[in-house]
Amino acid sequence: MDDVWDLVIVGGGPAGSAAALRAKQLRPEARVLLLDRAAFPRDKACGDGIAAHGRDELALLGLPDLIADHRPTRHLSVISPGGARVCATVARPNYVVPRKVFDARLVEAARARGVEVRRHRVRALVSHRDRVVIDGVLTARAVVGADGANSAMRRLIGMPAPPDRHLAIAVRGYADVPADDDVQLIVMQREGWPAYAWSFPIGDGSANVGFGMLLPRLRATGRPGREVLHGRLAEILPHLPARDLRAHHLPLSPGRPGHGAGRVMLAGDAAGLINPLTGEGIYYALLSGRLAGQAAVQAAGDPLPAYRRGLQNALGRHLRTTDVLARAAQSPSFIDAAIDVASRRQRVFDLLVEVGLGAGVVPLPIAGAVLGRWLLNGIPGR
Ligand SMILES: Cc1cc2nc3c(=O)[nH]c(=O)nc-3n(C[C@H](O)[C@H](O)[C@H](O)COP(=O)(O)OP(=O)(O)OC[C@H]3O[C@@H](n4cnc5c(N)ncnc54)[C@H](O)[C@@H]3O)c2cc1C
Repeated sequence: MDDVWDLVIVGGGPAGSAAALRAKQLRPEARVLLLDRAAFPRDKACGDGIAAHGRDELALLGLPDLIADHRPTRHLSVISPGGARVCATVARPNYVVPRKVFDARLVEAARARGVEVRRHRVRALVSHRDRVVIDGVLTARAVVGADGANSAMRRLIGMPAPPDRHLAIAVRGYADVPADDDVQLIVMQREGWPAYAWSFPIGDGSANVGFGMLLPRLRATGRPGREVLHGRLAEILPHLPARDLRAHHLPLSPGRPGHGAGRVMLAGDAAGLINPLTGEGIYYALLSGRLAGQAAVQAAGDPLPAYRRGLQNALGRHLRTTDVLARAAQSPSFIDAAIDVASRRQRVFDLLVEVGLGAGVVPLPIAGAVLGRWLLNGIPGR
């Protein structure tokens, strides 16, 4: 049997690596173990879009240049379900970095900081008052469950899976595009709403393209998921035939299960932290992972309350905002109104980006402008 670890992290995606990096950053002598069932580099179905806010998190983790060799993307174009359009320059550039590259770099950075990385699939957990025993062989003072959308850790600590109505599913692939294409394109769809396709150019002559929708809407089609997702993507972006298609679930934040139990903290997708309006989860994963790693070393006696407070301070108001907006967005005409207003006012466009990709909240005057436009267009059934 191993000695006692200060922190064991399950899952080496952005949430898990951020937890490991933060713990070592704050307490270099801490014994930190990062477990993942996969060997890195490994692929992960994702749009590969890293918001400017994600880059801020990398800087906080001491890795400001981790993706500096990738081209910044400065333009964002959104077509609403009813056909309203906005194409504008974002206040701060976003990045598109294939997860095979991004996640492997994060794990490598954690290893370089002294984190032990092991390939290991976690299957069992026994919680005691002062420690957690994993698979009968590893003992930890604190554990971060960062094992993604279908988290075994969440199940092992007895927390419920997110309800189907708060689960989305999306497929992504790669397509050829001109190397100078630097517009991130989002095409929303009325059919099966909420649903949208995207093209996120990487800057090397290829783009990450994909299509996602809510799980219950997919089931309602009565057709095989693969047929629907692949078919809709090809239909919406016919000029961008995709290869290497891969799908995965997205647990949206209105269905978030909670922060953990005992000495186990959940972070990233395992904590249901995906923006319900955009599907963005990398920023939340880095942020929640960072806060969990911090709590594990700064509040070692009882890390969960410290983690809960940290998340509440960082994301509490924002998550309440997106809970409400996700409800309003059930009506496609609400999104039509928001995009319409954003196409005329750069400030509203910037705010939508903050809410969709960062931790933004909506000031009352802007909520009023969108509501006014929505009412003008006629809310019911649209
Ligand atoms: C198609 C699609 C497109 C998306 N596009 C974007 C986008 O453009 N931008 C964005 O910000 N977000 C996007 N997201 C969301 C984003 O992918 C996730 O929010 C993000 O990956 C969450 O990171 P994580 O570290 O929590 O989990 P993950 O990245 O899923 O990492 C979890 C890790 O845990 C490991 N693991 C799982 N079970 C175990 C176990 N039992 N034992 C040990 N290890 C285990 C896995 O191997 C994996 O490495 C998209 C999601 C999908 C599905």
